[in-house]
Amino acid sequence: MVLRLARKHTKIVATIGPASSEPETLRAMIRAGMNVARINFSHGDHDTHGETIDSIRRLAAEEDAVVAILCDIQGPKIRIGELRHEPMMLAIGDTITLTLDEIVGENGIVSLPHPEFLRDIVAGATLLLDDGNLQFKVLETDGSNLVCDVVVGGPLKSRKGVSAPNARLTLSAITAKDREDIEFALSKDCDYMAMSFVRSADDIRELQALMSELGRRAAIIAKIEMGEALEKIEEIIRVCDGIMVARGDLGIETPAEEVPFHQKRIIKLCNEAAKPVITATQMLESMTDNPRPTRAEASDVYNAILDGTDAIMLSAESASGAYPVRAVEVMSEIASIAEQNLRDQSVTPGDDRRAGEAREDISDAICRATTEISQAINPRAIVTTSMSGYTTRRVAKERPSTPILCMTPNTMTQRRMALVWGVTSLQVQEFATIDEMISIIVRAAHEKRLVERGDRLVIIAGVPFGVDGQTNLVKIHTVGEEGEI
Ligand code: PEP
Repeated sequence: MVLRLARKHTKIVATIGPASSEPETLRAMIRAGMNVARINFSHGDHDTHGETIDSIRRLAAEEDAVVAILCDIQGPKIRIGELRHEPMMLAIGDTITLTLDEIVGENGIVSLPHPEFLRDIVAGATLLLDDGNLQFKVLETDGSNLVCDVVVGGPLKSRKGVSAPNARLTLSAITAKDREDIEFALSKDCDYMAMSFVRSADDIRELQALMSELGRRAAIIAKIEMGEALEKIEEIIRVCDGIMVARGDLGIETPAEEVPFHQKRIIKLCNEAAKPVITATQMLESMTDNPRPTRAEASDVYNAILDGTDAIMLSAESASGAYPVRAVEVMSEIASIAEQNLRDQSVTPGDDRRAGEAREDISDAICRATTEISQAINPRAIVTTSMSGYTTRRVAKERPSTPILCMTPNTMTQRRMALVWGVTSLQVQEFATIDEMISIIVRAAHEKRLVERGDRLVIIAGVPFGVDGQTNLVKIHTVGEEGEI
């Protein structure tokens, strides 16, 4: 297979699990349009994850495809302990005690082995268990035992999750298990690290500090699933490298009815900041068991793309479902149809335009202008030369219908661009002069059969090279006109 300029602009993140870890399934998913493979550290062990990552890297190289690895770290997920007899049937009005003691759950006493959580919860708080299927009200607490009234009953099973919407929790954002998983993920050179249950920008800073201590760096995706994070979303977007709208837990921590509002707001803020955003969870949920999506699911995927999401995500559909490859194909098809409605629509029309003379203002003006130039001359591609990927993300923010080709000497940047809307990336050697740049990038693109002699390109760059965020050059180039191929 030969690298192609993106046939769809929206990127697909697929969670890898038992249903998709066989090499031939992974290969078919890459061919169907998977751009980012998500490794979920809430399940599985390091040996299995390591083999999966190695396998994806090998297959991506064989397929000449760029596939980024996103390691999703579990975070401080609160779960009850083991129950002696399950399910434990709970009825409205029953009294249940959640306790630190590691006793086996029975007789209305259930183990909750999280001391900080028990300490933070106050009388009157609402607790949701098992994805919100059960609801308790805390009647009294002594700091290590919560006596609760069952408000919504049903069957309770071992290890189910517990959340406390609106509670102020002082849990550390990075647990001992997370630390081991982060060290492992960095040792595998992962491209993105997703952090769960982010509450504030300080949580992101804590992960940045840990990575510095460990001497390696991955781009950080903040999973937005807590009410507290919604209050501080602007600052979180500023410090992280990307966002995931984690609609599963977000729909427990806040009313599910509010999730579409939060999704649209977060996507808009990310677009304005030129940071990639993933819309996640239950996008094609019924495809876990069926070969076709429901009409509502097809609409959900389509609408997330119109909202401006960079990427759409598969969870159980690809990790444990019966149709992992078909689910990627369906996402690709919906994306291609939705994108026909997105032609050259800037996601930030006019109102953020600045008229200053700072480097960023000049870069901004050039990145915006590339879309207008492309509309006028219909080039084969907009070519960005980028060390960190900033300029490329800034061009993608304009959502041009022309494919964006990111040329970078940096392997990590090349793989990170797999998450960014509309971008195909290629690694090239470094260059020192404008002539050298043109010759290197055109030859590289031609070699990969991304461009042909006579194709028009809009090339943007920053001179002198190697300094980020100072785009100051636009060149309209016809492939072959300077004898470079
Ligand atoms: C979510 O809650 O939507 C999510 C993506 O997180 P996880 O699958 O890790 O629970």
